[in-house]
Amino acid sequence: MILSFNLYDNMFIAVYAIVMAFIFGAIFASFITCAAWRMVRGEDWIHGHSHCDTCGHELSTMDLFPIISYIALKGKCRYCGSKVPARDLIFEIALGLVFAGTIAIHGYIDPFVIELFVLEVIFLGLSLAEIDSGKLQSGFLLGLLVTWILFAGFMDDVKHYCLEGVAAALAISAIMYCVSKLMSSAKKQKVDIDIRLFAICMLYTGLDVGVVALVTACIAGVLIMLISRKKSFALSPLMGIGTVFALLFGNLIVQSLFTALGITSGLM
Ligand SMILES: [Zn+2]
Repeated sequence: MILSFNLYDNMFIAVYAIVMAFIFGAIFASFITCAAWRMVRGEDWIHGHSHCDTCGHELSTMDLFPIISYIALKGKCRYCGSKVPARDLIFEIALGLVFAGTIAIHGYIDPFVIELFVLEVIFLGLSLAEIDSGKLQSGFLLGLLVTWILFAGFMDDVKHYCLEGVAAALAISAIMYCVSKLMSSAKKQKVDIDIRLFAICMLYTGLDVGVVALVTACIAGVLIMLISRKKSFALSPLMGIGTVFALLFGNLIVQSLFTALGITSGLM
């Protein structure tokens, strides 16, 4: 990839970059959880001011530092003393760790790692909005599509990358359409599968790495089902986990599999 800097050439820079990634992850989680919350409620999610959900008091900059404000205020509103849900703190720490892990695993500061950060932020927003509203919010899906278009220009072989992505998106759309038709006839009622998210994820992964994404999403789904004992759950967190995992490890997994099966990498 063009514009690439190896993180592990200098251990000081590596540690600095990983710590900064954690801080930025927490900041973006704070922004996107708020944006998802407002989007679901039909509020202005860019220009609106943050306020306490109990007393409605507008929050100051001091109240909005990710992680730090929550700990300093002991998880309570500064103005009315009501408890602030720990959910936001958990997502700030979680996305911070995901950002730190992403850059540590990828090992380079390049457009691809920035693209992964953007993907992770949008997937968090999409997931929270789907869990809250039961729907995939078009704004976040559009964000994923625009991100793919913008970052495609940084790939080594832009034409091949775009063609492979579009082919994978068309293939998954056709498969999901057939699955929904089969399920509809089996259940004798209309079953709608939202194809948009599957298609957009495949743009990022292409065909072979896309299979890794889908398998990972299925494994994550089964694990969540076993842990939470729920029969239905949101699709976007699973596809988010699957896609990010596949973009980080997919090529390695596919190549190892091909090697194990004795298929030469000339096919890749
Ligand atoms: Zn309050």
